Amino acid sequence: MLKPMDDIKTQLKARKFGGDIDDSSATLEKYSHDASMFEIKPQLVIAPRTAGDVATAVKLVAETKKDNPTLSLTARSGGTDMSGAAINDSIIVDFNRYLTKVISVKGDIAVTEPGAFYRDFDVLTGEYELPSYPASRDLCTVGGIINNNSGGERSLRYGKTERYVPELKFVFADGIERIVKPLTRKELIIKMAQKNFEGMIYRDLFELIEKHYDQIKAAKPHVSKNSTGYRLWDVWDRKTGIFDLTQVIVGAQGTLGFVTEGTLQLVKRAKHSGLLVLFMHDIDDLGELIETVLKHKPVTFESFDDATLWLSIKFMPSFLRLLGPVKFIHLLLALIPDGLQLLRGIPKLVLMVEFNGETEDEVRTKIKALHKELSYLKARYEINGFEEDPSEGASEKFWIMRRYSFQLLRSKVKDKHTAPFIDDLVVNPEYLSEFLPKLRVIIKKYKLLVTIAGHMGDGNFHIIPLMKLEDKKDRKKILPAMKEVNELVLSYKGSLSGEHNDGLVRGPWLEEMYGKEMLDLFKETKMVFDPDGIFNPHKKANADWDYSYSHIRNHF
Ligand SMILES: Cc1cc2nc3c(=O)[nH]c(=O)nc-3n(C[C@H](O)[C@H](O)[C@H](O)COP(=O)(O)OP(=O)(O)OC[C@H]3O[C@@H](n4cnc5c(N)ncnc54)[C@H](O)[C@@H]3O)c2cc1C
Repeated sequence: MLKPMDDIKTQLKARKFGGDIDDSSATLEKYSHDASMFEIKPQLVIAPRTAGDVATAVKLVAETKKDNPTLSLTARSGGTDMSGAAINDSIIVDFNRYLTKVISVKGDIAVTEPGAFYRDFDVLTGEYELPSYPASRDLCTVGGIINNNSGGERSLRYGKTERYVPELKFVFADGIERIVKPLTRKELIIKMAQKNFEGMIYRDLFELIEKHYDQIKAAKPHVSKNSTGYRLWDVWDRKTGIFDLTQVIVGAQGTLGFVTEGTLQLVKRAKHSGLLVLFMHDIDDLGELIETVLKHKPVTFESFDDATLWLSIKFMPSFLRLLGPVKFIHLLLALIPDGLQLLRGIPKLVLMVEFNGETEDEVRTKIKALHKELSYLKARYEINGFEEDPSEGASEKFWIMRRYSFQLLRSKVKDKHTAPFIDDLVVNPEYLSEFLPKLRVIIKKYKLLVTIAGHMGDGNFHIIPLMKLEDKKDRKKILPAMKEVNELVLSYKGSLSGEHNDGLVRGPWLEEMYGKEMLDLFKETKMVFDPDGIFNPHKKANADWDYSYSHIRNHF
């Protein structure tokens, strides 16, 4: 008798699956990791060439699942997921090898395959951009951005990916690719009358939302960004009569089906920008400062802490490899004036406030107004292309430290591993001056060595502990430290994830965040789309901490 995976390989070939099928040990090892602290070895990696190949694989697994209940399919694009959502123990579907084409860009609308790197996509979109790109913009793909409902430095002004996906092509659990887009009431009625799998999904999901309408609407977290749970509250609106299935798919981490094509609404790139940088030696008045900055409506408001700054300086040579020699020398020269500032002592926090405008004058006016208000803090600023400032682009160094710090930590700190388990919390900015000191107490209590960076304007912080994950003593800290931090975040009505999503790490805490009844609705949603459990098991609503904990990396 054939072993189940050999049988799957044979059947894929028999059904003319046109992509790669690979179970070599090197490949399985490579796909055992994403950017999370977890490790799970798959049994097979397949790389479809077409949406038809994706559909073939889904159909095959759906048909075989009854005889082999552990079979499943997990999508992977760039593999930079920090929650463990791009790894699993059965079949990995790699979208980033062949499904990488940007199909069309017409003005502010782009159509793309999911595996396209954001960095390639961004070059092709001309005077427009997808403004919800994450800090991993040089490493991740558009498919990952859609399925994690990513956000980033521009989300303060532009919000997250959920706003920019008017249409998707999606392979459902019956192995059929269909278009998903917002429907009017009349169109919804026609869909629900269909006597097929698609009709059933629309019927069951509509019933579920309609029956629990007020409860679902009330469950929407009151924070500016949230990637936890399934976003049922944004699917059906009784007032407008619009039923939009894309809203529950965006951010579902491939647990409901596979995205094979995304239509994206872009926004005009800013013509001019300027950055104001603040070195904070004392963070007691942070709450007040945040309020002042937000009043000026910046386009980004980012931050990183002294630990990030130290590590960036320590690993400066690594920037040479990341940036190439010309940009690197530029970076070094640009650091000199701020190096002099640093002689006054390493600041606890570096804050970056960016303004955009149609003209330099517009940016100058905005930035000077804030500069004046914050004159007591001795802020420095620059406007790109500002003729008085010959070192155009000097502010780039701060963006580099902000965007690349996590990547550097992952690759450079040899005896410790990044352990993202409190990496994406959100607490509304008005509570931060109270919340942050309490957070520091927990970090101190567990003696966690952490870097903190984040989107200050949204109250969204990336706290990355560095740990010896193979050491039992360090592993033992994870659960109690995470519990305390999560409880603190929830006591301020925050969210456990603004953008990195649930995966293995936050899925187990959805009940704490939303309560049992909402968790049950999330589980029902998963059942509606994926009744046989073929897509990305152990994640989001179906995550369980014992499973997650048993897959924390213990070797490097
Ligand atoms: C240095 C660094 C910085 C980061 N900064 C940010 C940040 O600022 N903001 C942010 O949001 N995230 C951030 N992340 C997390 C991550 O990079 C982003 O969420 C990114 O968008 C994921 O893209 P990816 O292509 O790597 O996706 P992957 O890691 O491959 O996948 C992400 C999820 O999407 C699913 N998926 C992928 N393709 C498909 C598909 N075709 N159909 C269905 N499901 C699919 C996967 O199963 C998985 O659940 C960061 C990560 C790193 C390493």
